[in-house]
Amino acid sequence: MLSYRHSFHAGNFADVLKHIVLIELLQHMVKKEKAFSYIDTHSGAGLYHLRSGHAGKNQEYQKGITKVFHLDWPELAAYQTAVKTVNDGNDLTFYPGSPMLAMQYLRAQDQAWCFELHSEDSVFLTNNLRQYKQARVRREDGLKGLLSLLPPESRRALVLIDPSYEIKSDYDEVFHTVEKAHKKFATGTYAIWYPVVDRARINRLDKQLINSGITHIQRYELGLDADASTRGMTSSGIYVINPPWQLMETMTALLPKLVKVLGENAGAFYRADTLVAQ
Ligand code: SAM
Repeated sequence: MLSYRHSFHAGNFADVLKHIVLIELLQHMVKKEKAFSYIDTHSGAGLYHLRSGHAGKNQEYQKGITKVFHLDWPELAAYQTAVKTVNDGNDLTFYPGSPMLAMQYLRAQDQAWCFELHSEDSVFLTNNLRQYKQARVRREDGLKGLLSLLPPESRRALVLIDPSYEIKSDYDEVFHTVEKAHKKFATGTYAIWYPVVDRARINRLDKQLINSGITHIQRYELGLDADASTRGMTSSGIYVINPPWQLMETMTALLPKLVKVLGENAGAFYRADTLVAQ
């Protein structure tokens, strides 16, 4: 029984970082004419109404997208445009999830596989993506689904792994899936999101990746406050395996500014570093 619903969290500070990185990766993928596959292992519903009961409950978006939506920063322009696409002008009523953001970049030759296990969210996702011929929605386990699709026929792929980490074993499952996926298809670009609720778990994930033999891994993280074991998710991050060369430059310029806008306390911080060199 899945209890996590992304509709309670859409547009929060974690989505802001994750989706900025996702858009940077998508922009890179479409630079070449050759087709690519987009694989979203944990897709969510695809589109969220920020004034709905779920999003309205804790209004997490107020600490995320609301703070950056109108900033006049060139580094945010593509992300802001993507959010505006599902809204009416400058009004912020809807927030696009990862599959919907991806669909703004996919071309006729590209394909998307979007996995979502939740019974209701998979129906929302199917409806939200109905207009996109390149998209296939699967109500199946996304980690198993990913392995079944690799290597992709196109030999180019962008993979987003964005679980809710509802059970502790999810961290290990994600790592082992990434290890297997990389063995099947070493040249794909993999973006793996993680929450920092308990730093020890992330330190372990860092070590697993460092010792895996996988090379060319970068890590981007943004914390609203210093790590604390009592406050739930205070920061979140994303690993990128096989990142485009400009990503570090872009994120190194953006993150110090972003942390000033999103950070809540003196302990707010960011990381932009290389976990494993090329
Ligand atoms: N990627 C989405 C975005 O950025 O808009 C948010 C995804 S949300 C963090 C995680 C989603 O994974 C939830 O909707 C949950 O129902 C779904 N989920 C949980 N376990 C899954 C699994 N094994 N396979 C596919 N989806 C799963």
